[in-house]
Amino acid sequence: MLFDEKTVSKAKEILLNHALCDRCLGRLFASYGLGLSNALRGKSLKTVIAMETHKRIMSGDEQALKDLERLALNGGEVFQGLANQYVGKVKPKKCEVCGDTLDGLLGELVLETLKKISGIEARTFIVGVKKGSKLELKEKQIALSYGITSWESIRRELKREVGKRIQALTGLTPDFKDPELIIVIDLDQGNVKINTKPIYLSGSYVKLGRYITQMKWIGKEGRNYKYSVEESVEKIISAFRANEVVLHASGREDADARMLGSGRPIILELKEPLRRSIELREIEASGSSPPWVLLRLQGFTTSSRVRELKSTTHRKTYRVITYVEGGISEDGIKKITDTFKEIEVSQRTPSRVLRRRADLVRTRKVYDVVGQQISKEMAEFIIKCDGGLYVKELINGDNGRTNPSFSSVIEKSISVLFLDVLKHEGME
Ligand SMILES: [Zn+2]
Repeated sequence: MLFDEKTVSKAKEILLNHALCDRCLGRLFASYGLGLSNALRGKSLKTVIAMETHKRIMSGDEQALKDLERLALNGGEVFQGLANQYVGKVKPKKCEVCGDTLDGLLGELVLETLKKISGIEARTFIVGVKKGSKLELKEKQIALSYGITSWESIRRELKREVGKRIQALTGLTPDFKDPELIIVIDLDQGNVKINTKPIYLSGSYVKLGRYITQMKWIGKEGRNYKYSVEESVEKIISAFRANEVVLHASGREDADARMLGSGRPIILELKEPLRRSIELREIEASGSSPPWVLLRLQGFTTSSRVRELKSTTHRKTYRVITYVEGGISEDGIKKITDTFKEIEVSQRTPSRVLRRRADLVRTRKVYDVVGQQISKEMAEFIIKCDGGLYVKELINGDNGRTNPSFSSVIEKSISVLFLDVLKHEGME
């Protein structure tokens, strides 16, 4: 026997008081009858109850006739034959949980999903159902008021049933950990929303032009420069048919500094992409703006790498062309290169960024400086130092806020004419 007496009498007690379709009754007893669908489980329970009620009627039980009337009202089709014979025709009520909509709804949800995912490139998927729908709450209310503690929720049934059909119809593979496609069912709205997993690309950018910012400057400060690296890489959005691209970078250089060598490490995050398999070379080309901004890509990566990229600082090598008021001698250059060897430099937040950064003192190391005279007043320096060191202030001293500085060592006012990042050690 499939069901024990306790289960049957519990199911009968519920059916005497609540109209439930086969599926919604079956879900309440989902821990019994492995391998059965909820609809079959519910119908079987109703069948057993109908047979038992018939037996009681035949043995002259008057209460059984009253029960039959209510069962025919609440239990639907299974009780109709019996009702016709003993109590007359009864028009069954609709299911209190789903309003007899579940079968139709399932088909509609699957159809809507198919329509919405057609044209999206993906291999794996998962189905989710929003929590707290009216159907879910009604079901829970009935279950708990009859002391049922483990039932299959409507959310689980829908996830499973929609998932099974999508898998069979599309060939997509379910992936519960990291799916490319997330199908979200909203039961109250009766609709489906599709989210796709972001794509992360790791690489770098090289900036051969000056007066190009890393990010677009929007907001209070307005637009100070004509172009940005961000705008250049935004051009890859259309290839992925994505919503947007987020540029995550390991630090940033000043707008007037070039970023040379292998470039600055970045991760590009494409949100809600509809396409996934695109040649990296093709993306590099579309995200570059020659001759000023070049995008280089290494490959696909994961979201966990973003935090790592942004939190690690790397040593850098800079090239600076300086103008020294009153001129600079070979001696002056030697004094600077001798001083700045493996030396700690203390920097108070530069006055030029004080508006947006907290005023504090930081210590950064300068490892090595090589210098050469270009003309009487101009000299070039190659500086190897910690990431996060403000190089312009290392040169001009920022009125003593950076100490020591090139300026303080030779006791002359020095300004930076050109600044290039030659090497970011996060890039090989
Ligand atoms: Zn139902």
